Amino acid sequence: MFRSSRSAFSISSRAQTQAKVRVSQPSFARPSTFISYPNSSRSISSTRSAASPRQPDTNWRAMAETDISKYLRQTHERVFECNRTWAAEQKAKNPDFFALLSEGQNPEYLWIGCSDSRIPAEQITGLEAGDVFVHRNIANLVCNTDLNVMSVITYAVQHLKVKHIVVCGHYGCGGVKAAMTPKDMGILNPWLRNIRDVYRLHENELDAIPDEDTRYERLVELNVIEQCRNVMKTASVQQSYAENRFPIVHAWVFGFRDGLLKDLKFDHEKVLKEIQKVYNLTG
Ligand SMILES: [Zn+2]
Repeated sequence: MFRSSRSAFSISSRAQTQAKVRVSQPSFARPSTFISYPNSSRSISSTRSAASPRQPDTNWRAMAETDISKYLRQTHERVFECNRTWAAEQKAKNPDFFALLSEGQNPEYLWIGCSDSRIPAEQITGLEAGDVFVHRNIANLVCNTDLNVMSVITYAVQHLKVKHIVVCGHYGCGGVKAAMTPKDMGILNPWLRNIRDVYRLHENELDAIPDEDTRYERLVELNVIEQCRNVMKTASVQQSYAENRFPIVHAWVFGFRDGLLKDLKFDHEKVLKEIQKVYNLTG
């Protein structure tokens, strides 16, 4: 699988760098107050919507301890300031908003996404509090032995009765890139091994893509599709679908170039039939 001569498996830092450059481009022009970075002419916004997508590069070692403490207090307080603003906005829009939330949740969607800070499920979809049950981990993996994601899926399907399960990956995924790097990642090895297994499953298709960045993007997509298959291997999803005709599983990928979601058109019905030849748990 690893072929150092062609380095088909080794993803250069170029794609990742491009992704970072792309997200640093948008201009966030909403009015806001600012917190100064100590020993820096740069500043960060105190409102969530206007926040810079990247922290400025600060030379922490050159800073006085008091300045670091001040910075940490400010970035901590910033969250509470944003929270107060958000709560006031919700209440202004709907005085019963929090009373309704306290009555319970009835989300339509389960979202399984990457932990990457740049892809917040509600913000990129325009969904509101109460609309989506969320699970995120590095590279949006659905592992059979991960009690966390398995519990989330079971709870979402059996108790919340979600209608859609979305596995959402993203181009420029650092987790996928790390998995493609021929290097010992310590405790991350068993986690990232799942992505190496996806590569092995689709080795012929991926190796036939000559351009490294294109191959990397395709691996991101194939990883999402394989995680959708893993969702469909669970008893709760199979049994609920047999009984209710939901949930439907979807494979999406987010792109930094334009901020849009791409629907990979995962064929739930067809894949379920394929999977149940071996993984049928409806009996
Ligand atoms: Zn990622």
